[in-house]
Amino acid sequence: MENEQKIDLYDLSKADLEALVKELGQPKFRAKQLWEWLYHHFAGDHDEMTNLPKKLREALAEKTDFGQLNPVVTEFSSDGFTEKVLFECHDGRLIETVLMRYDKRNTVCMSSQAGCAMGCVFCATGQMGFMRHLTVGEIVGQFAYFSRKLKADDGRISNVVMMGMGEPLHNYDNTLTAIDRMTDPSGIDLGNRKITISTVGMIPAMKRYADEQRQTPLAVSLHAATDEERTKLIPPNKRWPIADLMDACRYTIEKTGRRLTFEWALINGKNDTIEQAEKLGTLLKGMLCHVNLIPLNPTKGFDGRPSNPERVDAFIKKLGDYGVSATVRVRRGIDIQAGCGQLRDRVVNG
Ligand code: SAH
Ligand code: SF4
Repeated sequence: MENEQKIDLYDLSKADLEALVKELGQPKFRAKQLWEWLYHHFAGDHDEMTNLPKKLREALAEKTDFGQLNPVVTEFSSDGFTEKVLFECHDGRLIETVLMRYDKRNTVCMSSQAGCAMGCVFCATGQMGFMRHLTVGEIVGQFAYFSRKLKADDGRISNVVMMGMGEPLHNYDNTLTAIDRMTDPSGIDLGNRKITISTVGMIPAMKRYADEQRQTPLAVSLHAATDEERTKLIPPNKRWPIADLMDACRYTIEKTGRRLTFEWALINGKNDTIEQAEKLGTLLKGMLCHVNLIPLNPTKGFDGRPSNPERVDAFIKKLGDYGVSATVRVRRGIDIQAGCGQLRDRVVNG
């Protein structure tokens, strides 16, 4: 493929851009201009960069791309507010990204890997297995793609959730470099608080995250309060059991000073019982945290059903008895399989 030889500009750091323009015989300030085209204007084509000499634009066009994600299918939810794009990567791998338009917010749910190695049974990405980590350029490229689109209506991305395909902390370096890029004050300048990283609970990576005193809020996918139940849903629980995970969570809160979110997909009759709520309340009592409940979204490979509203209310009430706050996450884009855990590499729904 032609693209394979080209450099993805979104893969490059500031220093890399400087080296590139130097290699092309241009002064350093051209790198700053290029950076602005990438991160202020989200240019989609070399010819847009009218303040760069034509010769440089041509040389860049020969060598580089503005992102290497090719949108192959775009779907809108019936209410029109959720948009899911299936991208083809330069090597043919397929990933999905979702834009959710709210009143005052535009949230993008981004992927960090093609597939996922964790194998959570209720998750469509887990059901497809692991293909590869995404590059920094492919992660930032998802942001750039939707920024470019929103720019047409004077909009911008206000929030990012790393809750698409893949386990972000399994692809630690690329994910965190991408986040550093998105929060860079001289570029996109998105606040750390506007980003959430969701993790299945990879303890060693969480410790590294805490030690680096990262400021991007973490969400931990818990889904069950006993090892027996959690291992059935989340195979990595065998390696990183609940007691150790809770230690890692407390450590993270202590080191970062930030509240943790716990995610819990409510599966009717399984993890939505009063007994599970009591066990969860006991685990989280006194912790600086919040529980996000997500009624299970349907996936092909798992026959569980979402909890009904009465069971959800009873669960929240029981957690309240332990002083643990919990809310239900609004489900978005379920009709186009753009909800939590529904993303995968299909070209047509089926
Ligand atoms: N790998 C990360 C982030 C991607 S999944 C993680 O597991 O945390 C984002 C969230 O969706 C996680 O909390 C995940 O457990 C949840 N999820 C997965 N499948 C789901 C489903 N079918 N219904 C509801 N939530 C689901
Ligand atoms: Fe991977 Fe998260 Fe899906 Fe589990 S829930 S398989 S960690 S993407």
